[in-house]
Amino acid sequence: MTVIYKRVALIGLGLIASSMAHAMKAQGLAAEIVGYAKSPESRAIACEIGFIDHAADTAAEAVRGADLVVLAVPVGAMEAIATEIGPHLAPGATVTDVGSVKQAVIAAVQPHMPEGVHFIPGHPIAGTEHSGPRSGFASLFQNRWWLLTPVPGADPEATRRLRQLCEAMGAKVDEMDAAHHDLVLAVTSHTPHLIAYTMVGVADDLRRVTDSEVIQYSAAGFRDFTRIAASDPTMWRDVFLTNKEATLDILGRFTEELFALQRAIRLGDGDHLHAYFTRTRAIRRGIIEAGQDTSAPDFGRGQPPG
Ligand code: NAP
Repeated sequence: MTVIYKRVALIGLGLIASSMAHAMKAQGLAAEIVGYAKSPESRAIACEIGFIDHAADTAAEAVRGADLVVLAVPVGAMEAIATEIGPHLAPGATVTDVGSVKQAVIAAVQPHMPEGVHFIPGHPIAGTEHSGPRSGFASLFQNRWWLLTPVPGADPEATRRLRQLCEAMGAKVDEMDAAHHDLVLAVTSHTPHLIAYTMVGVADDLRRVTDSEVIQYSAAGFRDFTRIAASDPTMWRDVFLTNKEATLDILGRFTEELFALQRAIRLGDGDHLHAYFTRTRAIRRGIIEAGQDTSAPDFGRGQPPG
């Protein structure tokens, strides 16, 4: 048990914040955890489950005296929260966020951080399609990457302490530039989500023709898409609105590749299709070898992803 922060304020009490709280409590990493969420219901649930020590009525009240403040709200809500808490932050406090997009969050939050407060943006590459205060669990970050994107001139000691917290919650930590982060995530997460949303939308249109067959005979490929496409609509709306350039860039490349595959199908070019699928299969092997998924037939989904 090593207490890393004396008082942690969680702003937002959904999947990521509640998982952090469970992990911090399990390891004794915070002496006290205060929480705030928009709705009184979420605050009451957090207290009832007990992953926070008490709930505050406002974000400003929550951050008073905190040595770590975690912004765990949808990306589009970051600026309003930063504006509200700015004047109430304790000197020397660290503020971090867990938003899925980094450049837009830095632009929204940094201007509201007073002198002497350390803002260190972050993003845990871990999640499920569930949301809200009941969805969190302590092992969410186990063996997952947590990317920090400190701005130039960030305090090394504050960064080191935040890194120590992320590692103590089970994550592997890396630092990168915010623009690079946004491009990488557009490839690995944002565009794939958009494709899943589209595919499920197409199937839903088709369902009107084929009645319930799409659901009844739902095969593994489509089922995986529906799981991804069940993710929180507010969170994902904000991701696309704020990581616009990188997503559009990757989507352009995706469309070109799709047209090439469409052409190969039309021309009966089996060699092209076979070579393409052989290349992509190797990527899946790489992910399993890197410990970021399991090769079990149910992909380990019998248990919560860890
Ligand atoms: P979530 O489960 O939907 O929870 C969001 C929380 O934010 C809720 O407690 C909500 O309050 C609160 N909130 C929303 N607007 C607010 C406002 N204006 N003021 C105060 N609280 C507000 O979301 P999540 O999955 O934890 O995501 C939180 C952040 O983590 C997002 O920025 C997301 O991009 C990022 N992230 C998500 C994942 C993932 O897979 N889910 C992974 C990595 C990073 P109520 O409960 O009262 O509505």
